[in-house]
Amino acid sequence: MTKPLLRAENLEISFGGIRAANGVSLEIGEGEFVAIIGPNGSGKTTFLNLCTGYIRPTRGKVWLGDMEITRMAPRAIARRGIARAFQIPQLFADHSVLDNVMLAIAARRGIWDALNPLDRPDYRREAGELLDLLDLGAHADTIAGTLPEGLRKLADVTVAMALDPKLLLLDEPTSGVSALERFPLMDTLMKAMRTRGITALFVEHDMDIVENYADRVIVWEAGKVMAEGKPADVMKDPRVLENVVGVA
Ligand code: ADP
Ligand code: MG
Repeated sequence: MTKPLLRAENLEISFGGIRAANGVSLEIGEGEFVAIIGPNGSGKTTFLNLCTGYIRPTRGKVWLGDMEITRMAPRAIARRGIARAFQIPQLFADHSVLDNVMLAIAARRGIWDALNPLDRPDYRREAGELLDLLDLGAHADTIAGTLPEGLRKLADVTVAMALDPKLLLLDEPTSGVSALERFPLMDTLMKAMRTRGITALFVEHDMDIVENYADRVIVWEAGKVMAEGKPADVMKDPRVLENVVGVA
């Protein structure tokens, strides 16, 4: 593996009696494209929440590069380089795709820009470049809420990328997207990540997508990592076939 960009050590968190993280330890190397698979309720989304500061662990630590981020607020973590695209896209549905991206750029620039207008030539240029990178140039003026699901996912990722992350966390990027659209969607995502040198961690249910796009796959079960490795190898593991692939 390349130098670790994200490192989690022994993370624990319970909700009621449920151990949503039960000693999660893992590393993601710089430039890797890693998939997380596992049954519903096994704690995949919880792990993303722990990495982004939305949930604090009762035990364990998270590092981004050399910096410990375990107890930082979500905004502070985002500023240091972890962005997230949600399972359900979080766009301003009544605004154009371009406005959504410019708003994210303005947010990244911080409070000193709060008094400045949102629509500025430099924001417009940067947003346009990102939209082209995500193959959304033709949809810049489309109202976000009217985009079909696949394009909405790409718009959501564009907004996340406008924060200029080192690491992008994607929670089920292909859910709700038709089987035919999934590969083109992933092709576009991969191209964008590679072009910008972004490391990505994505939760995915579609094993064809995992096999075709992930450098490495990490398998979750009951709040912890149960297996990991190259997709072709992991998919042969009888425990994975029984507990994950069979029930996904
Ligand atoms: P996955 O993404 O693998 O389907 P989740 O991480 O969403 O699983 O959930 C793991 C377990 O933790 C589930 O039992 C879920 O109900 C519970 N859980 C997750 N987040 C919360 C929360 N914020 N409050 C209470 N329970 C939660
Ligand atoms: Mg989930």
